Amino acid sequence: MEAITIENVRVFDGTGLTAPRSVHFDGGRITACPPPGARTVDGRGGTLLPGLIDTHVHVETRAALEECARWGVTTAFDMAAAHPGETLALRHLDGLTDLFSAGYPALAPDSRPIKTMGFPDDIAVSGIDAVEGFIASRVRDGVDYLKILVEDPELPDSNALAPETVTALVRSAHQHGLKVIAHATTGATYRVAVEAGTDIVTHTPMNAVLSADLARMVPVASPTLGMMRGMCRAFEGRSALPMDYENARESVRRLHEVGVTILAGTDANANPFGPLSRPYGETLHEELQLLVDAGLSPVEALRAATSTPVEVFGLPDRGVVDAGRRADLLLVDGDPTADIRATTRIRHVWIGGTQVR
Ligand SMILES: [Zn+2]
Repeated sequence: MEAITIENVRVFDGTGLTAPRSVHFDGGRITACPPPGARTVDGRGGTLLPGLIDTHVHVETRAALEECARWGVTTAFDMAAAHPGETLALRHLDGLTDLFSAGYPALAPDSRPIKTMGFPDDIAVSGIDAVEGFIASRVRDGVDYLKILVEDPELPDSNALAPETVTALVRSAHQHGLKVIAHATTGATYRVAVEAGTDIVTHTPMNAVLSADLARMVPVASPTLGMMRGMCRAFEGRSALPMDYENARESVRRLHEVGVTILAGTDANANPFGPLSRPYGETLHEELQLLVDAGLSPVEALRAATSTPVEVFGLPDRGVVDAGRRADLLLVDGDPTADIRATTRIRHVWIGGTQVR
């Protein structure tokens, strides 16, 4: 593996921006000292960042990970797979975006994802009695965390999991050492997810702005604003509940104001999600811009895609530019802490020290 020294480069180290300096890596890890025989890369005019982390994707192919990598997304968290055998096999491959996966999600019998997204009906959680068996199956699959689809009973055809079933799923997952991520797109489902003890809530209410009281109870949020905007455009006026992107954006503003930890996530996916298909990689850059639009500073948005998710998911080997960490690095033109759009001006990407762009 190539030894590299990047010279004269400003560094967003995961916390803030440093003056121009040198960063070295060798054997896939960042090193404190210049490795012997290192090739030099001139970083003048650019900024080096930790590789970006997308906390909400759906991946079924190697090509999806290659696309993530090209856009500087070096770690991705799959948030429910219709074909977990394929998705779980794509985890932790050398020189490719490092993937983690929930495998099959917990969902209700005859619910919308089973009818429209290709999830098999025999995985559905029929009630509290089915919880232990479902969690045991996910543990056998070797998943990295549990995803629960908390649907709103106000939405037609939703066939939502009962709140007590959601609570039992969270409790059982925690007993097996799995973190829990809950899908919630309305105020009512945010409440069910939070009261059940979920670790991370993903998506944002589109029907109304989250109340300050409820926002304060949210532990961590991965809002997926780009997907919320796409859903509002696709379904506004055709849904049983209001779907207004302003509600999503203002909910994120409120979460941020009350100090909730926010993660960058895109819901990037391919078919069979149809009109809500979202491209891999480039959507994370759009998400950073939408988080800034919702009140985060550019530095806060960059943390939401680097150092914050590694704390939340417990991955101390990445997300920060520091000696000993993985050489997952993104070199861009300009300064994204001043103008977040600079993250799209990509010069080079390294994953575990391997140059992928
Ligand atoms: Zn999703």
